[in-house]
Amino acid sequence: MKCLQFFPVIVTRYPQDEDHAPILEDEAQARVCNAGEVCDGDLILASFDDNGRSDYFNDQYPASGYAYNPTCICGVCCHLANHPGPVVVLAFWDGWCDPWPADAPVLIIPSEESRIQAKGSS
Ligand SMILES: [Zn+2]
Repeated sequence: MKCLQFFPVIVTRYPQDEDHAPILEDEAQARVCNAGEVCDGDLILASFDDNGRSDYFNDQYPASGYAYNPTCICGVCCHLANHPGPVVVLAFWDGWCDPWPADAPVLIIPSEESRIQAKGSS
């Protein structure tokens, strides 16, 4: 048996406008998980605001995890230095990190590898 955690979130339809890059993956594979459960290669589509409503990024990006360092000088990590729980870094671009509270819900499309592993563990 596998334990599942359900989040009180609202996933809105993906914006179809010039500000949002088209999703080139199968949107039917999208799912919500904790940031701490995101695997390298998973495609990150949206975060959720304080009301649990999805907030899509202008361009989705693949996760490539790094260890979180609260003393990192990128200018982003410091904002979560006092976060009471674990923090994960889901990506790194040109000198700045993408830190998330590990328990924050995130909308992703799992990579093919993640989908294969999920089938194997169910
Ligand atoms: Zn950083």
